[in-house]
Amino acid sequence: MSAAAQSPAISQATRDFLARRHQLFIGGRWVEPASPGTIEVVNPATEETIATVARGGPEDIDRAVAAARAAFKGEWSRIGTHQRSRLLFRLADQLEAHLDLATELEVLDNGMPRMIARHSIAKFGCDFLRYYGGWSTKIFGETIPVQPHEAPNGGSLTYTQREPVGVVGAITPWNAPLIMAVLKLAPALAAGCTVVLKPAELTPLTALLLGEIISQSGIPDGVVNIVPAFGHDAGAALAEHEGVDKIAFTGSTAVGKKILMAAAGNLKRVTLELGGKSPFVVFPDADLSRVIPGATRGAFFLQGQNCMASTRLFVHDDVFERVVEGIAAMANGFRLGPGLAAGTDLGPLISADQRRRVMAYIEDGRRSQAELVCGGEVPEGKGFFVRPTVFAHTTMDMKIAREEIFGPVLCIQSFNDSDLEAVAAEANKTVYGLSGSVWTRDISTAHRMVNLIDSGQVSINCHAAVDPGIPFGGNRQSGWGREFGREGLEGYLKTKATTVLF
Ligand code: ADP
Repeated sequence: MSAAAQSPAISQATRDFLARRHQLFIGGRWVEPASPGTIEVVNPATEETIATVARGGPEDIDRAVAAARAAFKGEWSRIGTHQRSRLLFRLADQLEAHLDLATELEVLDNGMPRMIARHSIAKFGCDFLRYYGGWSTKIFGETIPVQPHEAPNGGSLTYTQREPVGVVGAITPWNAPLIMAVLKLAPALAAGCTVVLKPAELTPLTALLLGEIISQSGIPDGVVNIVPAFGHDAGAALAEHEGVDKIAFTGSTAVGKKILMAAAGNLKRVTLELGGKSPFVVFPDADLSRVIPGATRGAFFLQGQNCMASTRLFVHDDVFERVVEGIAAMANGFRLGPGLAAGTDLGPLISADQRRRVMAYIEDGRRSQAELVCGGEVPEGKGFFVRPTVFAHTTMDMKIAREEIFGPVLCIQSFNDSDLEAVAAEANKTVYGLSGSVWTRDISTAHRMVNLIDSGQVSINCHAAVDPGIPFGGNRQSGWGREFGREGLEGYLKTKATTVLF
């Protein structure tokens, strides 16, 4: 590990936040959990406990759902759309005013490099709130020309209204904690819903900061409730709660399936953003000066703990060696260290468990016919670090190529087929279908491949483009529904149709 591993300074505001007693945010107040319990928050770069947070349980989920229901029926239902918009803009301004603190907390809690935390909170926290703040005044139904059989000769008018679905349970993961919370909150509030947010037990800090900001934003009490808690008890209680109208979930495919089952009791709506194993297909005419950094960053962004990660490269034989060498050189040059240290390119994985899972995949890869080109080791010292790892000559029958690893492991497979359908068939050989990209200068090849790859997003000459306006979500076992953009709002709305005869 490099000099980046030395412990960086933390601001006084961050120290004060970490030292505070953190309770649950229910009905606009900070409250103790019904049954005593705490979550120890660990800095994955040092393995030290940095904060202690109250741990909610199923009874607290009940209280939070009741508060969200009361707010939904009460003040929030009467608040105008312009006021909802103003509140989301104010929330964005306040998050921006807390950007330094939010960034430091995110880095200490999750491990990601400071620049990534800062940029993503500004771009996908603040801008995302403003984007959906704009939508809240643009939600409307339609008038529909019909001839109801009750009035074959008379006049009639049919119109629709879009209504908020109600109380939303938001269950979020640890890989980009604050952004994931905002991705759920912004469209839910824009639509007029109220929310119970259960952040991941491994990374509750920025959700709690969000609670503090929300409590000063003018958003009525109970509209947003935040219950740091574990998934197996409190998360499951939220997913099956009769008082919840929709679950918005981001996390693993395995837990997504459990949530779906739990939601069946009251047939609540469910949107799921799940795993991925995204293909990145390089044709021989591609601009390798863009391919190599694009693939390397796409694979190792957030240490590969990222559902959109470009984990499977399909590279044409003619450029295979050059691409593999270029990626290995870049990956070997990445400096590992605590996210707050200057010069850190890659942080640690989130936990010892996660590192164990990732290392088991790497061991499996070593035993396969694939060639380990770089990485594969755990560096000496504290922190849950794993060196960025590249396997070349993988094939789609290998576990490392098929399954989502959620760590810094890139598989590179070669092809020499000019039949695009054959190339796409390899790219589609997983249960996932989230992201993907095609790299070529030939527009015909590019667009034909886009049509053949079965993913919710396929980019050309870039990977996993993200903007609040670009719909994002998966096909097959990568999920249900879309977030971002207008479609992201739709998931929080239901339609009421009215016909009047005259
Ligand atoms: P990982 O396994 O990588 O930690 P998960 O998909 O388990 O990712 O976690 C995503 C979120 O789902 C977290 O907030 C976690 O607490 C929650 N969760 C885990 N298990 C359940 C469950 N059975 N029901 C509801 N939520 C759950």
